[in-house]
Amino acid sequence: MESKFEHKEIVALWREFMSEKGRRHEIATIADLYPDIRSLMVGFSEVERFNPDLAQFFLENPIETVTAAEEAIQEIIPPEKKGVANVHFRIDRLPRDSRVEIRKIRAKHLGKFLSVEGLVRKATEVRPKLVAAKFQCARCGKDILLEQDGLHFQEPLECDKDQGGCGRGAGSTRFKLIVEESIFVDTQKIEAQESPEGLRGGAEPQRLVAFAEDDITGQISPGDRIVLNGVLKSIQKGSQQKSTLFDINLDLNSVEFEEHEYEEIMITPEEEQAIKDLASRPDIFRMVAESISPTIYGYDIEKESLALQLFGGIQKEMDDGTRIRGDIHILLVGDPGVAKTMILRYMADLAPRGIYASGKSSTAAGLTAAAVKDEFGEGRWTLEAGALVLADKGIACVDELDKMSPQDRSSIHESLEQQTVSVAKAGITATLQSRCAVLGAANPKYGRFDENRMIAEQIDLPPTLLTRFDVIFAMTDRPNAKEDTKVAKHILRAHRRGEARRYENIDQIQGVDGNMIMADADKLVPTIDRELLRKYVAFSKRTIPVLTDEAMKALEEYYVSIRSLGEAEGSSVPITARQLEALIRLSEASARARLSNIVTEDDASRSIRIVDYFLQKVASEGGRLDIDIIATGFSKSQVEHIQVLRRLIRDLSDPSMGVMESELLQRAESEGIPIEKAKAIIKKLSDAGELYSPRPGTFRLATEERA
Ligand code: ADP
Ligand code: MG
Repeated sequence: MESKFEHKEIVALWREFMSEKGRRHEIATIADLYPDIRSLMVGFSEVERFNPDLAQFFLENPIETVTAAEEAIQEIIPPEKKGVANVHFRIDRLPRDSRVEIRKIRAKHLGKFLSVEGLVRKATEVRPKLVAAKFQCARCGKDILLEQDGLHFQEPLECDKDQGGCGRGAGSTRFKLIVEESIFVDTQKIEAQESPEGLRGGAEPQRLVAFAEDDITGQISPGDRIVLNGVLKSIQKGSQQKSTLFDINLDLNSVEFEEHEYEEIMITPEEEQAIKDLASRPDIFRMVAESISPTIYGYDIEKESLALQLFGGIQKEMDDGTRIRGDIHILLVGDPGVAKTMILRYMADLAPRGIYASGKSSTAAGLTAAAVKDEFGEGRWTLEAGALVLADKGIACVDELDKMSPQDRSSIHESLEQQTVSVAKAGITATLQSRCAVLGAANPKYGRFDENRMIAEQIDLPPTLLTRFDVIFAMTDRPNAKEDTKVAKHILRAHRRGEARRYENIDQIQGVDGNMIMADADKLVPTIDRELLRKYVAFSKRTIPVLTDEAMKALEEYYVSIRSLGEAEGSSVPITARQLEALIRLSEASARARLSNIVTEDDASRSIRIVDYFLQKVASEGGRLDIDIIATGFSKSQVEHIQVLRRLIRDLSDPSMGVMESELLQRAESEGIPIEKAKAIIKKLSDAGELYSPRPGTFRLATEERA
């Protein structure tokens, strides 16, 4: 667009704008507080209201317009602060529909003012950048000022006569940089990626690099969802051999933070009514569960739990400042090919702010976060967010959790319980938010569950991590004619329907009954449309249910009755307060799903049914609940067996040889420990370094020697 305004005209318009009463006062205040406050923030609509042409001109010619606005500000500033208070002019809150998606940024946007939504992946440390360098000429001693732009340090070509210098060229004099008298500005480089909401079908998110300067540095952290407003710039690629290809980045003018996790989802009044109608149906739970991965057959209770995870419990801030998480963490441990990955991908896609990641991920940040010094930071350290930070206020679906890196293994606890990720490395100490629900998946330790062993024993994750999950499901896959027929039928029907969907008119195919195929949608089509369900979930977050007396009583009774099983002499500890918290969260989620602000006895029963199901399967031995199977990795009976074995080894050990394995097993069996179990315990103790073999086939206690 041709420039419609002369520079003088723009300054005049801005002068009028800045002179409006309230604004004049605001500028005076800023000048007064300078340098604590260094910017005048103006909403785009204010400019539009003042003069639509000026607003439009600003979008097309932002650099020129901002410069003019800053000149106008200087005119308004009280005399004593003129030239001292370098007030920036910043514009934010552009209309939502004028935002540009990162993947749609094109050459035509260069030089224009853009408003872009993004999820911050990386942010460097804030470091000063030289903007105007003071040099002293070695020959005449004069000081001259040289403005710096770009990233390369520029030295004067000559001792500038206009600044009173001697005019000698760089060849016949030398220039000394006077750091203390040079002018610096704080800078920070960030990288944002498209928010997952905008991504469908697992597309790889596109990224945009942005630069922040001065007072807007240091506010942005990895994991933040922000709106970046600024001018699109291009930089030439290639440092030695210049290229005709250019990279783009955004020079930030202002940043807005998305306050509410679900505000990015628009819900129309009609949709709101549809959601409320759904919520009042008695079969709403079945409907939601059936809408989760309907292509996958079965897993009713798992899907019901996943439904509750979508809605989530209530995050609480206590009077003493304690924070209690509301997010529900679920772990699926299962044989290969039981559709874990399919379910995780579905959930990541369905949940608002869902992210799918693999424990095996190869990025430096891994699942949590990392500080790295690489090309991106141009010499500065960069803080990079991993999946659990990027999923802040959403759901992180982490596949192959058992394959995560050792760093992640040690830092993931914090993320699950405190819902933060701390990084302390090379001067960077940062705490990033990871207020997300985690849906993890893992394979059993030996690839497939062994029916003869306890399930918990076969989960290859540290007990301290396992106890952070509210619910753990073991998905075993054993041939079973009756079930197999049902699964096979379901999968076959799903595939056939998928084939038929490729046709506009399936009738044209001879040999199959197309109408029948398309009509036969039962259980394959989500009961609630995916878009509507996502909105339903987003809408439900506004509901904060409170426990009723009846619900409290039901949960208390369940908890106490299960605990009491552990009171008898020699019994295991069946559950701990952690499971009670899981019950509360699940009950709250159940109420939320109904958009009810009270948690009823029914909600409590639903959560009890789920927790009891999981405990019976994963944390029981011989029909007895024993939470230590999860919490310590050993059941009560195992602990007893371990004590017996330790005693036997000690008593039977020959000072130099230790004890023969065969003898040990025999004696153990005579004390009531089956040979298989004894072998498993010996292996465990050896792995833990408590036992060693002086020679093949013999054992000794490691600790005894030290004593
Ligand atoms: P996992 O991650 O547990 O190893 P996948 O998610 O990769 O398993 O699933 C393997 C395949 O088997 C997928 O294509 C999935 O659709 C199919 N499958 C497994 N179990 C079921 C089931 N119960 N119903 C329908 N399809 C299933
Ligand atoms: Mg898988």
